[in-house]
Amino acid sequence: MALILVPATVTRLEVLDPGEFRVVELTLPPAAEVDGTMYPVVDDLRAGTAFLAEPMGARTRKPQKRLYTRSNVGLLSPRVLQTVINRSHEDRADTSIWWQTEEVRLGTEVPVRVELDDAGEALRPYEHRIGDDEKNLKLEPDAWWRERRFLGLAFGTGLTPLIAHLRYMAAMRFGRSARHRGAHYSLVLSVRNPRQLMFHEELLGIRRAFPEHFDYHPILTREWPADWAHGTGRIVRTERRSDGALVGDVSALLERVPDLETRHVRMCGGKACERQLREGFERLVRPASFKAEVW
Ligand SMILES: Cc1cc2nc3c(=O)[nH]c(=O)nc-3n(C[C@H](O)[C@H](O)[C@H](O)COP(=O)(O)OP(=O)(O)OC[C@H]3O[C@@H](n4cnc5c(N)ncnc54)[C@H](O)[C@@H]3O)c2cc1C
Repeated sequence: MALILVPATVTRLEVLDPGEFRVVELTLPPAAEVDGTMYPVVDDLRAGTAFLAEPMGARTRKPQKRLYTRSNVGLLSPRVLQTVINRSHEDRADTSIWWQTEEVRLGTEVPVRVELDDAGEALRPYEHRIGDDEKNLKLEPDAWWRERRFLGLAFGTGLTPLIAHLRYMAAMRFGRSARHRGAHYSLVLSVRNPRQLMFHEELLGIRRAFPEHFDYHPILTREWPADWAHGTGRIVRTERRSDGALVGDVSALLERVPDLETRHVRMCGGKACERQLREGFERLVRPASFKAEVW
């Protein structure tokens, strides 16, 4: 069947860092028509996955298909696809420029891809499928994660899949029950300046509500207020070896999260940082597992 796009409406637009970061919510209609038949739109995207939208290209002036990781969860906000979009600053940047412009307003329509389910009864948002399990941040089944310790490492808008994990886990009280101790999630969020701290108050609130299950380490790398009580500087660094080669150094991370070897690391950010992390883990400490999604 041909690719199905339905018009979603921009229902929330929040500028975090002007011209750089925007929180966008696209709301899907409750039902949509395909080939003359109306189908309900059912939202069961798993936390940590991406949907596909068709924003406008600012450079090409054509609609372009792009993937965005969903930062909220359907359990709490059905059919509302939230993401954080950043300006990529690449030479070829196209849609990432458009999202930061005044052309994007409340009420703007942006097509979103949906699929007819196997039973042919409902439309569901298309869930981007990543074949390589090590690059896939789709949250594992509930029976698996509720017994595990995690370290989420978010660089910039790489927070999106990890905050979806956390919102889902918090809604499930981190899987704690009479029979299960529940999960523990440490989150390290590295951004350049205080304006880029996405969902900061909410994350502090989750920590207050679930101190036994969640720990939050916000880190500012370029600009911070004088009274900033959290981390500063680069959490993953490079070190020059005796042969002159630069290699990844995770010692600053290990200082913050000393039980790293017990943790399932879930990282989202840039390619160079992923490589440095892999090198650093190889040299210093092996986490329980490592999955990374890089854009
Ligand atoms: C799984 C996944 C999740 C993502 N989640 C988010 C998110 O939550 N937030 C977010 O801001 N971004 C996210 N992205 C990135 C997003 O999809 C866009 O790629 C990004 O916003 C940049 O879009 P752009 O149109 O400006 O530039 P690009 O996507 O880089 O493309 C610009 C133009 O250049 C062309 N182009 C690019 N590279 C080449 C090349 N080498 N040769 C020829 N042509 C080229 C493209 O076809 C396009 O026409 C995600 C990407 C993936 C894969």
